[in-house]
Amino acid sequence: MKQRPTFPAQLDSTLAKNRPTPLGVPAVAAAPPVRAAVVSMPQGVGMDSSAVRMNMVQKLKAQGVTDPAVLHAMGTIERHRFVDSALVNQAYEDTSLPIGLGQTISKPGVVSRMLELLCHSGKGRLGRVLEIGTGCGYQAAVLSLLASEVYSIERLRGLHDKARENLRHLRLPNVHLLFGDGMEGYAKGAPYAAIIAAAGGEAVPQAWVDQLAVGGRLVTPVVTGSEKSAAQALLVLDKTPQGVRQTLLEAVHFVPLKSGVA
Ligand code: SAH
Repeated sequence: MKQRPTFPAQLDSTLAKNRPTPLGVPAVAAAPPVRAAVVSMPQGVGMDSSAVRMNMVQKLKAQGVTDPAVLHAMGTIERHRFVDSALVNQAYEDTSLPIGLGQTISKPGVVSRMLELLCHSGKGRLGRVLEIGTGCGYQAAVLSLLASEVYSIERLRGLHDKARENLRHLRLPNVHLLFGDGMEGYAKGAPYAAIIAAAGGEAVPQAWVDQLAVGGRLVTPVVTGSEKSAAQALLVLDKTPQGVRQTLLEAVHFVPLKSGVA
């Protein structure tokens, strides 16, 4: 029988190179790549995952994503590691996928579109970023390659734990997973250079605007229609010295932003 090609353990080495050194912590020699995760990789994709990701990146480019840092990050993080083994075959398709507890991981097209909007200034790496809705942790991992620090908050304990498990082997020292109600933001990490939400509510919580730095940008889905139709669109909010500027963009479909924890 033809040997199924194994997944390359490239991510660890790529990340080790790009890994920022946390303040005051001496840089340690690159840790040996975690083989266990590769060995336990569910069968089914049956091809080199980096080639499949490059194919996904080509499609993102065709959709109009141009930011090289965003494309690089999307090409680096292994989305198939964040979805259930039964869905691994679909991990690099431009589709949202269930991650449990009624939630979904966003389409790669939407993730990269939002990240490109977030990195609009072209000034290189973002500073501290707040993500509302950690979900399975995929977008937080992509963000870790684009920002100096990522604070990601999730209101569902089950998903917070799942994200922690998913991210463990990546050892990303600049990702901070928090369990709590993201509608309150996370004041301890403020001010943020950027805030990104993966769940849409009726209005942008005031805490997010307050915790955004002047010059910072917030990207979030918002409900635009009546409650019944629950139409959503992407909203870009820029906090300028002159005040807040809001721009409503294309229609999107996200899970609802809910208050409290569960
Ligand atoms: N970025 C995620 C997408 C997760 S879907 C990923 O890559 O997987 C959106 C998530 O937002 C869900 O997990 C949902 O539980 C969470 N969410 C909704 N309202 C929230 C709130 N007020 N605070 C924190 N998380 C919230």
